[in-house]
Amino acid sequence: MNERGEISKINLQERLTTFKEVSRGFNAAECLKEAARCLQCTKAPCSKGCPAGIDVKEFIRLIKEKKYTESLAKIREANSLPAVCGRVCPQEEQCQAACVLAKRLDPIQIGYLERFVADIEIESHALLPQAKAVSGKKVAVIGSGPAGLTCAADLAKSGLEVYLFEALHKPGGVLVYGIPEFRLPKKIVDHEVKYLQSLGVNVERNAVIGRTYTLDDLRQKGFKAFFVGVGAGLPQFLNVPGENLNGVYSANEFLTRINLMKGYCFPEYDTPVKAGKRVGVFGAGNVAFDSARCALRLGARDIFIIYRRTLDEMPARHEEIENAREEGIKFHLLSSPKEIYSDNNGSVKGVICIKNELGRPDSSGRRSPVPIAGSEFGIELDTIVVAIGTNANPLLISQITGLKLNKRGYIEVNDEMQTSVEDIFAAGDIVSGSATVISAIAQARLAAKAIAKYLK
Ligand code: FAD
Ligand code: SF4
Repeated sequence: MNERGEISKINLQERLTTFKEVSRGFNAAECLKEAARCLQCTKAPCSKGCPAGIDVKEFIRLIKEKKYTESLAKIREANSLPAVCGRVCPQEEQCQAACVLAKRLDPIQIGYLERFVADIEIESHALLPQAKAVSGKKVAVIGSGPAGLTCAADLAKSGLEVYLFEALHKPGGVLVYGIPEFRLPKKIVDHEVKYLQSLGVNVERNAVIGRTYTLDDLRQKGFKAFFVGVGAGLPQFLNVPGENLNGVYSANEFLTRINLMKGYCFPEYDTPVKAGKRVGVFGAGNVAFDSARCALRLGARDIFIIYRRTLDEMPARHEEIENAREEGIKFHLLSSPKEIYSDNNGSVKGVICIKNELGRPDSSGRRSPVPIAGSEFGIELDTIVVAIGTNANPLLISQITGLKLNKRGYIEVNDEMQTSVEDIFAAGDIVSGSATVISAIAQARLAAKAIAKYLK
């Protein structure tokens, strides 16, 4: 941490050329100093700010007493993935926004404290738990993102026989295929998968439920309940001319090639990915910033975040926006695409955009962009990444008779995360639409409780 209380980071040169984690987090002295600032408020509003309701005040009190193992156990009562959440939660809008010290613009850095105690366990290779005897009732958990990992762990702890099915060759969902190594080292996700296996969860990779097996196949194999945590991984597109040109990627494909298929280690790993030199990324959420910063590390040098609103409306974590600025990512704000144009070979050469002004708030509560007639301008680009959101993938859910979906195509659930089909429960992005890791975890914990109750 520097004199201004900012967290230390690896040097900029390394950030431009490697995928190493950018933020170093707290060391022990910094952690204790930060914990000492906590006022131990009677009402502790920070816990209410956390979607999973972590007992923040108590875990910080335990840090003050250097009881790190107990502190982590306290966090794990509510959050199964503390090393992940300590790094990727939008704390500035959640627990830290609720901290009483936020009024003085200096809230306790709760995320970094959480990360510190969670990392001690990972780095010390602390003993993993032993599997419990199982009750014989089999549950299928479909999808291994934060929702699936959490639900599987809780079900195994309650003595059920749990099988986790993952379509890809590596479990972890967005934590492995979306969020890059420089924000979330993959050894953390590997640790969580090992933790699950030590609880006795059977992990089956390359198993696309709805293709490899249907739910009825699984029912015939003796599964008594199902948890659907398949995320919302179907990319949305811009719907402008030229979107099919070579050099236009969905963020999903771009990030999967780089992070899951290790495109950044080409030719050691054999998935090539072309990031070009001048890259335009449409969108301003975490996905857009991850794409822009990956392109930078692959050698692109003129990278633009092209966003239809202003900095104030950007949904990405503030810390990552700041990191991107430091790394030289440029912004075209209040700009929307009209047409992508090509060179003679059918590859992207640039995009024509139009300037916007902000009008009235839309259904999201943010002021909506209104195009300004005659304000068109061009940006020369050789690569475009579209990161403007995702939808539910219909592959599995369209096959389930009687499964109620909402107007946006996501699964409808009751307060206990049970769907309209009695033996199927669901949580995470497939219920709420693209959201956050911690909201997927909080919902999955409710679902696990309800499944255990249902099977009793
Ligand atoms: P996912 O993580 O999407 O996992 C679903 C899993 O199900 C996947 O592994 C998928 O392969 C598998 N699957 C799908 N269909 C099937 C099938 N038929 N059979 C078997 N398996 C299947 N949130 C934050 O809080 N902070 C961040 O900084 C942040 N950054 C993000 C960056 C990126 C690039 C992306 C894409 C998202 C980010 N998010 C962030 C959002 C967050 O990651 C998601 O809200 C969260 O991962 C949702 O968890 P999930 O378990 O519901 O789904
Ligand atoms: Fe500590 Fe802030 Fe929570 Fe009060 S609100 S208990 S100061 S973290």
